[in-house]
Amino acid sequence: MRVLIAEDDTVSRTILRRAVEKLGHECLAASDGDEAWRLYEETPDLDVIISDWMMPGMDGVELCRRVRNSEKNGYTHFIFLTALGDRGHLLTGLQAGADDYLSKPLDRDELQVRLISASRITTLHRKLERQNAELARLKDKFFEQARRDPLTDLGNRLQLREDLEMLKGRAERYGHTYCAALCDIDFFKLYNDHYGHPAGDKILVRVASTLKDGCRKGDALYRYGGEEFLVILPGQTLESATTVADRLRKDVEALKIPHEAKNLPGVVTISAGVAELSAEHPKTSDELLKEADTALYRAKQAGRNRVTRYDGKAD
Ligand code: GH3
Ligand code: MG
Ligand code: MG
Ligand code: MG
Repeated sequence: MRVLIAEDDTVSRTILRRAVEKLGHECLAASDGDEAWRLYEETPDLDVIISDWMMPGMDGVELCRRVRNSEKNGYTHFIFLTALGDRGHLLTGLQAGADDYLSKPLDRDELQVRLISASRITTLHRKLERQNAELARLKDKFFEQARRDPLTDLGNRLQLREDLEMLKGRAERYGHTYCAALCDIDFFKLYNDHYGHPAGDKILVRVASTLKDGCRKGDALYRYGGEEFLVILPGQTLESATTVADRLRKDVEALKIPHEAKNLPGVVTISAGVAELSAEHPKTSDELLKEADTALYRAKQAGRNRVTRYDGKAD
């Protein structure tokens, strides 16, 4: 263990230090409370503090309180040195956060007993700290995983829902406008039927990465459903968002991925529907998505491989 001794009496400090080192521990020593506090703050992985009660400057109780209130170092086992006349202080010491006490003048066997018990407790604390850190790491990982689509590594619907709520808040507060473009691969069922499902998966990954490359900074892309992707375009009007969506459509077509099961142009294409949310026409996120879906439906009806904007009319 790494042990810090705080004791203003030189003789007592030296004896204690030697005894602690003889028991196989690393030892740091301070001749008053302020020095002890400084050493505590700058020493990583400090396991035990053995502190005198009365010291010039910061006394032992204050040192103990500070250590207990500090977030640093994980848990540090705190032992008070108590002369016979100090016994009345024991309760105060424990209430300040100390774990144990050690009689003065030093009894080496008692020191050994105290340090064995300190080591047991410290080991448990360290284990708990490691487990807590691992749990926190897993929590972050699962939080992240729950919001990602494993195939394309895009945000999924849960992520979309949370982002839309945030955007909606901004739209209401600052009058921001944003658009949604719902993109859907044309005749994808036919693609799967013709080339097989694993080949279909590869197309999804390629289309996702093409759309991602085509998005500008600030836009966000999600896997909305099976072969459907949603682009959120903050700060865009219906008109400019439609232009962006059409460029994305052309990017996918330019990949020239053969799709023999479908008529002209014989390659994989997408259709898209665009809708807008603005301060003048407030609506819920669900309504916005419904409008984008309606527009997409019209693009499909009109022959696919095209972008349609929502024209204000429901189906
Ligand atoms: P449309 O042009 O009208 O959009 O026709 P479509 O065939 O693309 O649409 P439909 O909704 O009939 O079929 C979508 C297909 O997408 C069916 C389903 O098997 C496929 N699909 C959904 N998710 C995945 C996936 O993760 N991997 C693969 N390979 N295919 C998927
Ligand atoms: Mg003293
Ligand atoms: Mg679809
Ligand atoms: Mg489709």
